[in-house]
Amino acid sequence: MRKKIVAANWKMNMTVGESMAFMDTFLHELGADNSVEVVIVPPFTALAKVSEILSVGQQAKLGAQNMHWEKPGAFTGEISAPMLRELYVRYVVLGHSERRTLFGESDEIVNKKTRAAIDAALRPIVCIGETLSERDADKVEEVLDRQIKGSLAGVSARELVDVVIAYEPVWAIGTGRTATPQQAQDAHAFIRAKLAELWDSASAEKVRIQYGGSVKAQNAAELMGQADIDGALVGGASLDPRGFAEIVKAAARG
Ligand code: PEP
Repeated sequence: MRKKIVAANWKMNMTVGESMAFMDTFLHELGADNSVEVVIVPPFTALAKVSEILSVGQQAKLGAQNMHWEKPGAFTGEISAPMLRELYVRYVVLGHSERRTLFGESDEIVNKKTRAAIDAALRPIVCIGETLSERDADKVEEVLDRQIKGSLAGVSARELVDVVIAYEPVWAIGTGRTATPQQAQDAHAFIRAKLAELWDSASAEKVRIQYGGSVKAQNAAELMGQADIDGALVGGASLDPRGFAEIVKAAARG
């Protein structure tokens, strides 16, 4: 049985003060139910404060939005895995479509980061997904196949089970346009079958695959009720503490 995992990707939003206010309301709304794994993914500047808050009740885990694959070094503007570990970060989002399209991240770069994260005992949340033109050209499976092979090259079966994959169709991110539960389930089933083909079916059954793309309280339960959807990576709707708590509760029911 895979434990559902719901992550709040705040992107470039939330000051330290806003993060504190969010956490106050969110943790209150969430209560003590820990049937779903919750990950808060603030901007780097708020990691330390959110880490401090989470160290008290431990109702949620901490994630980062990106990292560099090198350890220390002359990489101005970058953050390394050991820096994240020092703040008790447990998860790191890698290869988000905004990183891929706006900052030129290739599967090869995502792969280097995935390797570095695993080596540092951080759990990667590896994002994959097709653009609208790729879907229209019937290339969803081809794109997912390429991204899985490229991003996860060299990962062993033992390591794979701790990787989270986020299926995020690019056309659904921040657009208000959600994949239908069936479209999402079809993609998730394809991803799991591909993992079984490339690794083995026992490991593939253990990998959690999140859906991301305009998830909100109103559509979360149906999406997460699908057999191969093991949680959600939530952008816009994760900025509202009450709405995000509703999504987590929907995951618990799904
Ligand atoms: C995301 O950023 O990963 C995302 C899915 O965003 P949104 O929920 O706003 O579509």
